[in-house]
Amino acid sequence: MNIVVYDFNDTATCSAKKELLKLYPHDLTFFENRPDGIFNLKEIEEFTEQRLQVMMIIKEATDLGFEYMSEDWNKHIFDMLTTHHLQDYIRLFYHADFKTSLDDIERRRRDFLSHYMLVLACCSNETKRNYLIRLEADMFHVKFNNLPDAGVREFIRINNVRMLKLISNDEKSKYRDDLLNCTDRLTTSNFDSTDFYKVPYTSAPELIQNLDCFVRRGFVYVPHYLSVYVFKNIFIGYLTNRLLYYCDNLKHFFEPRLQEIIDRTRYSSNKMISDDSNYVTKTTVDNSKKILESFDTVAQTSFPLCSRNLVDVMQRFHHLKYNGRQLLQLFLKGIGLTVHDCLTLFRNEFTKIMTEDHFQKEYGYYIEYNYGLKGSKINVPPPNCMDIIENYPPANHNRREFHGCPFKEWDIPCLERRLAHCGISNEEITQISNLTKEGHAQVACSKFFEYTHGGTEIHISHPNQFYKESRKYFTKTEKVTEEQKSINV
Ligand code: SF4
Repeated sequence: MNIVVYDFNDTATCSAKKELLKLYPHDLTFFENRPDGIFNLKEIEEFTEQRLQVMMIIKEATDLGFEYMSEDWNKHIFDMLTTHHLQDYIRLFYHADFKTSLDDIERRRRDFLSHYMLVLACCSNETKRNYLIRLEADMFHVKFNNLPDAGVREFIRINNVRMLKLISNDEKSKYRDDLLNCTDRLTTSNFDSTDFYKVPYTSAPELIQNLDCFVRRGFVYVPHYLSVYVFKNIFIGYLTNRLLYYCDNLKHFFEPRLQEIIDRTRYSSNKMISDDSNYVTKTTVDNSKKILESFDTVAQTSFPLCSRNLVDVMQRFHHLKYNGRQLLQLFLKGIGLTVHDCLTLFRNEFTKIMTEDHFQKEYGYYIEYNYGLKGSKINVPPPNCMDIIENYPPANHNRREFHGCPFKEWDIPCLERRLAHCGISNEEITQISNLTKEGHAQVACSKFFEYTHGGTEIHISHPNQFYKESRKYFTKTEKVTEEQKSINV
């Protein structure tokens, strides 16, 4: 590989930079090299959060209905990147190149690092893997579209993309009419200046599907301006393999100092897949106060078993381990508790075994973080049932971890005792136990809802949906006090 030499004054620094340039030679990348070098943990989290923010901007542009890759779609993204001061991505998306200044290399390093952090955070959940692939591929596409021809040529050279063969002028002349007839946007006036690549037809399914290119004997003749589809498919193939590889081997890459950041990113990345906003209750100070005032009763009647159990554990031990805290705090945020009331609730319990100062330093910050007030300022949504069931490490009760879905995690006698405690009949308990044994956690939870809410049939897919439907049910019945009835959902 030819390294473009650049001018650094200090010799040692210069040689380090050359090494970095080998790893990060171009803004456009398949991310094949793992990030290397010394990183500051705080920066790692910051870069990862920024990348997630960018992905949410791209997702939003599509969700808002702008035509994919259209001028409006790009403008929306550009405007949002500008508003949020995401300079790295403005540069990478709209001025991608293979320059070699220190700034260029550092920016690429941040790009690699944040990409790999999201791979680690999303690899073990299939839905997130799919979203990550889609959004990373979109980022690749934007960069490619704005790359000058020289940048594309350099990218092909650096990555040694062998499957992409530039056709000779003889071949181009031989199939001139076919190429002109089959290729959209190609005219006699731009034909001569357009390069064509010959690739196996499996490399460009979109182009074949859209009947956009000339195909002959298993090869597609792709004009340069459509070659992004070929590169994007290569990118998607590499990323898919990378995600599956890390999913299978995640434990070998365990790095305790990174683990908390990965866990937090896992929560933040819920935003990528979440369309559960209907289950979240709008927060008002007044409503939050009412929830707090009748908290114990509401928890025992309207919380799903996963959240109800976390409240029980917190009240018993005056503490909750990390995953339990996260789940309960996000759930409480979703039912409309203000950050102030959430802090009060946790502080009242935790300060029974620790000082106020200790609580604020160790736990207060993360409550504010979960509300989108600290750190990335991403308002992380409460996770849905599938996320809780698939994505959380199993709780170890010996280590006082009690997070997770009881219909998935608990042993049957323990679950049956808890169900009996909720006033469910023996026959109904047997039905729920059988569903649990067969692995139908959400159906079992839905039955639990039915048997504790006067036979109301509903399919539970989100803890906050359980809460919302429960409040609706109780406000219609005579079973709660006037004060409780006035809690909004
Ligand atoms: S199915 Fe969902 S709402 Fe019900 S207990 Fe499990 S995680 Fe909670």
